[in-house]
Amino acid sequence: MYRALYRSFRPARFSDVVGQELAVRVLRNAVRRDRIAHAYLLAGPRGTGKTSLAKIMARAVNCLQPQDGEPCGACAVCLGSGLHTVEIDAASNRGIDEIRDLRERARYAPPEGRYRVYIVDEVHMLTQEAFNALLKLLEEPPPQLIFLLATTEPHRLPATVLSRCQRLSLLPHTEENIEQQILAIAPAAEISLDRDAAKLIARKADGSLRDALALLELCAGHGEGRVDLDTVLLATGSLDEAEIARFLDLAEKRDARAALDWLAVQESRGADLRQLAGDAIGILRRRMHEAFAGHREEEAAGRLRMLERLAALDADMRRGMESRLGWEILAAEGLPDPLGAQAAPEVPAATTPKEATQGVRPAPPAAPARQEPRMPRPASPPRAKPNPSAKPVSSEFRANFVGHVKEPRAKAMLEHAQVFDAGDSWEVRFRAPPFLAVAETPDVERDIRSALERTGGPRPIRFTLSQQGGD
Ligand SMILES: [Zn+2]
Repeated sequence: MYRALYRSFRPARFSDVVGQELAVRVLRNAVRRDRIAHAYLLAGPRGTGKTSLAKIMARAVNCLQPQDGEPCGACAVCLGSGLHTVEIDAASNRGIDEIRDLRERARYAPPEGRYRVYIVDEVHMLTQEAFNALLKLLEEPPPQLIFLLATTEPHRLPATVLSRCQRLSLLPHTEENIEQQILAIAPAAEISLDRDAAKLIARKADGSLRDALALLELCAGHGEGRVDLDTVLLATGSLDEAEIARFLDLAEKRDARAALDWLAVQESRGADLRQLAGDAIGILRRRMHEAFAGHREEEAAGRLRMLERLAALDADMRRGMESRLGWEILAAEGLPDPLGAQAAPEVPAATTPKEATQGVRPAPPAAPARQEPRMPRPASPPRAKPNPSAKPVSSEFRANFVGHVKEPRAKAMLEHAQVFDAGDSWEVRFRAPPFLAVAETPDVERDIRSALERTGGPRPIRFTLSQQGGD
């Protein structure tokens, strides 16, 4: 039968548990001294080994010859079928029947071993009724009953339950810790794992050993048993640091054209843009710390501004902004300069005030263009005003038009634009100045114009900016 790696490699003894020294010491000492509490609460984030510890404890308290607090692994109970322990997953069936049943059964001695052990996973999910039943058992605990309650959200437990448990807090695993563990497990699972690959998996696992093992398994599937850095990058849709650093450099230099090309390439390779923010923030933080450490205060402050910009983008994406849109905005606008210089974007057309019109009289200077509040930058040149009586084109027209567009950057910018029919001319109205700036680079502009002409016939075409708060 197929078993997930994290199940196959559960630690069997307290001494195999890595990174939870305090909780292990408390449980092991309790077994050593035979002073076992009626209820333990194992609280900690996911993947920190709560269930593994509970299972070891259940065997240790029932072992016929415990050795220095560890289950011996050889006695009749250790080799038995584990009837002394019942696992309840409060998240899946909310536990009421089990707990009711348990009050009944608690009156009898366990079928094997000294104690009946109840492991309740995600105990905070129990119903009120089940909590009441549990509380009754905790108030007058039958002597042969032990509760091992596991939760990721201890604050959701009633105080009456909390006050009757010995609480053990499990810590998230450190990256080094996870790296060591998966490097140790890989050979036993017949996976050849590189150190660089292990490092990246550990970083992605975010403190959870279980997630790290699941990732390792996923990567091993991709790489047919061999896992190197490229396998992990490919399997997880992530990018290597040098690539991300390249994008940050382009954004810092405000090279919108190259930054957008970079994005298009990464997308076509299947990179997961949602992960990019976290990775990019990690790189910027390191650069900021390096600048502080080197007493380059001005640069450090600039890095901090860049970090703020990226953190805001990350927050926007978490709130549901489409990740591609977020990265395109960043690519088009660039990052604040780390030395505070107010360099203009390198998009050539963006620096020249220009009416992108053919035969249409230029409109008077428009209302101030919409600015990103966090981005100090030079004032935008005046733009043609949107024509208030123009009507949006039909979705068929738009689909047809976009179908004629070939330039990847043109396609990308048109996602942030609407097309209007002003009777005697077409108007392409962009949502924000950076999009318009990129659309006005010569190749992109030519492509948009020719696609629009092929769709709607020869008419003058104007590029405009939607008014603040408009569309
Ligand atoms: Zn034993």
